[in-house]
Amino acid sequence: MRLSRYFLPVLKETPAEAQIVSHRLMLRAGMIKQVSAGIYSWLPLGYKVLKNIERIVHEEQIRAGHIPMLMPTLQSADLWQKSGRFDAYGPEMLRLKDRHDRDMLYGPTNEEMITDIVGTYVTSYKSLPLTLYHIQWKFRDEVRPRFGVMRGREFLMKDGYNFDLSKEAALHAYNRHLVSYLRTYERMGLQAIPMRADSGPIGGDYTHEFLVLAETGESEVFYDAEITELKFGDREIDYDSVEQCAEVLTEFTSRYARTDETHDEAAFAEVPEDRQRSARGIEVGQIFYFGTEYSEKMGAYVQNDEGERVPLHMGSHGIGVSRLLGAIIEASHDDKGIIWPEGVTPFHCGIVNLKQGDAEADAACEALEKALEAEGLEPLYDDRNERAGGKFATMDLIGLPWRITVGPRGLKNGVVELTSRRTGESEEMTPEAAVVRVA
Ligand code: ATP
Ligand code: MG
Ligand code: MG
Ligand code: MG
Repeated sequence: MRLSRYFLPVLKETPAEAQIVSHRLMLRAGMIKQVSAGIYSWLPLGYKVLKNIERIVHEEQIRAGHIPMLMPTLQSADLWQKSGRFDAYGPEMLRLKDRHDRDMLYGPTNEEMITDIVGTYVTSYKSLPLTLYHIQWKFRDEVRPRFGVMRGREFLMKDGYNFDLSKEAALHAYNRHLVSYLRTYERMGLQAIPMRADSGPIGGDYTHEFLVLAETGESEVFYDAEITELKFGDREIDYDSVEQCAEVLTEFTSRYARTDETHDEAAFAEVPEDRQRSARGIEVGQIFYFGTEYSEKMGAYVQNDEGERVPLHMGSHGIGVSRLLGAIIEASHDDKGIIWPEGVTPFHCGIVNLKQGDAEADAACEALEKALEAEGLEPLYDDRNERAGGKFATMDLIGLPWRITVGPRGLKNGVVELTSRRTGESEEMTPEAAVVRVA
């Protein structure tokens, strides 16, 4: 992509309305534009990162055996009357009427709809286990939308629902989700710690929230410092193996880690004092097992192998896809701007031409662009007629992991300069060597 042809409305000034660094940087880097409180347009750069996050979520869900689908944003109130949540949900639910005066709502979540679908089509235990998910926009009329996409009113969420014959089988689905979430967040360069959470109005005993530690997080958390040393890494896991998934759950949840809602001073006091930590965190996901409550209300029953009609055991599992952009930036930035982890970066590499219009420099940049593309990478070539300082500042702000700087002086010696955004270190090398390093 040539920057001269792209749409990257970078802001020079720091927007006054933004209170936290990720919101400021997303506005300054031209990633989002507010439409009204908590509702944003995703400008090209922000949209690219959002799509990358979405892709990782899809890949890891599919790897775990979960099946993608898509349900609508608008729902009829009927379904929610069945579950009793139409009245219970309160003012966070955006309600509307269609031209026939029928009650509708913009979905804040999809338990009712998915249970209705499964209840309609699944009649036998032989169709189980089943986990369906979608990545769809949600609307919650938050009292205080703030911090940009972190607490929006319209936001993108992955929500998945497992349907199983027994509690035991549903708990395997719970564990499987925990494992797949650990992989998902790590691929985005994030450490998200599973913490025992409060199940709230949805009910049930089994729930963990995934928290990214950050000073600007809205949750207060308490944990054993040892937990931050755990990494899932690239270990192979068989998602069908009950034992393997349970082992990972035990490994990642046996140390003390709780949000303030479930915090227990007495239990916390048993953690060695030098490892006790209290901090703030951003909730980037949550998993739940809640039993048969929805299936009973919505009529999702199957015949078991003894011919009895039994309600399905369910859980629901969410990832805050759009919130993750904010969380990643909170966790990875410096005073110059964003530092994208490789997994989600909007472009792999920036190319800065120090002397636009110089035949040799232009040709070298174009050759680099082609060579990077041939490696399957997406470069962003700053081909504007601007001062080098401005070009560097833009590249630092938008946070691409690598920058290749090309100028007539270096080209005389056959070299370009490769700079790592994260370390700030620069090295001179041939253009070919730079491509190899970036790839
Ligand atoms: P919160 O405690 O932050 O209000 P929640 O517990 O109400 O979140 P869930 O119902 O668990 O949210 O939804 C799953 C995920 O969706 C959350 O873990 C979070 O990452 C994301 N999410 C929830 N509300 C918002 C929002 N208003 N804006 C952006 N993301 C959100
Ligand atoms: Mg909420
Ligand atoms: Mg919450
Ligand atoms: Mg939650």
